[in-house]
Amino acid sequence: MTSSPLHLVIVNTPIGALGSGEGGGVELTLRSLVQGLVRRGHRLTVVAAKGSTLPVDCTGVELLEVEGVNQPSWQHAAAHAPVEIPHNGLLPALWETALDAGQSADAVINGGYDWLPLWLTQRVSAKLFHLISMGDVAAVMRDVIEAVAAWNPHRLAFHTHRQAADFQLPAPANVVGNGFDLTNYTFQIQTNGPLGWAGRIAPEKGLEDAAAAAAALGEQLLVWGFREDEAYARQVESSVPAGTIDWRGFRSTMELQQELGSCRALINTPKWNEAYGNVVVEALACGVPVVAYDRGGPGELVCSGNTGWLVPPDDVASLAEALRRVGSINRSACRSWAEAHASCEVFSQRVEAWIRTGLTADVSINPRR
Ligand code: UDP
Repeated sequence: MTSSPLHLVIVNTPIGALGSGEGGGVELTLRSLVQGLVRRGHRLTVVAAKGSTLPVDCTGVELLEVEGVNQPSWQHAAAHAPVEIPHNGLLPALWETALDAGQSADAVINGGYDWLPLWLTQRVSAKLFHLISMGDVAAVMRDVIEAVAAWNPHRLAFHTHRQAADFQLPAPANVVGNGFDLTNYTFQIQTNGPLGWAGRIAPEKGLEDAAAAAAALGEQLLVWGFREDEAYARQVESSVPAGTIDWRGFRSTMELQQELGSCRALINTPKWNEAYGNVVVEALACGVPVVAYDRGGPGELVCSGNTGWLVPPDDVASLAEALRRVGSINRSACRSWAEAHASCEVFSQRVEAWIRTGLTADVSINPRR
């Protein structure tokens, strides 16, 4: 790196401690971002809930832990739901600390999907940057994201173009993808394993279609993930012949990648505009081809015919048909794609470029204080 190192404050989602798993995909994103930025020589301060842990090789990173009650997620909010902050909320506690630390830092990077830090962006002297982790889920969030974009589009980045397309932006979106510590994922060459599916067990993830496709082939489906919605899980189970689903539970990354890596294919069937699709890339990193709906992030990540197959959304017959053709995919090509596009090194490089461009960009209006 020829430019001088930056001091960056990274703020975790206000849902659980970093390393607890409660924060879902955002946690993996922030952990690999921290690792990548440390390796690039930057000075980092991480602001997260009490009990958080940092990735192993991150000595020297300052961790500021704060206490508070978890923020409700926007994931399942109604389209016109109001902004809610619980009594003794973690969200304002995180941002009080982050704004203090941000006074003397070059930039503050927000990993959470929350109204408060977005609204603060134009109104504080600390330079707040937001890595937006979901598409359009509620009007009040869409409005505040679009307001920041209209004020200064450099302050926002997205994981995929399809995610960014949910919002009205005045300039082409900064798309930074995502990144993974690929040393945690072992490439497995065998091609005759079972079918797999991974993700939160919740309606927007569309497990029922993957289960129906496995049933159409007369096969079992291995399912990993947190059972967020029990009633939905039972409904999916009863929609296919008994024994079709093999519930494997929520596993650590190490266990997940080991079991997932032995699969013949990962099926990914989002019903919403998935911002990225961590599990898609985690499968590819293990050499597992992905058969996915051509929708949201997964539709942008899978190279149909090279690293898996994309099929029309909600078309279970096409899903089953593509699974029959998965043997023609070269597993090494899957791993190579992950190495070229989604390592923590390339991800942190793209994030650094976004922040540096934002810091040098001319802000045409003065922040209101
Ligand atoms: N995951 C995990 N263990 C499991 C199943 C899933 O650690 O048994 C993780 C997975 O590695 C991924 C995250 O859960 O990082 C899910 O992220 P994704 O982007 O796929 O969906 P989200 O839940 O954020 O909508």
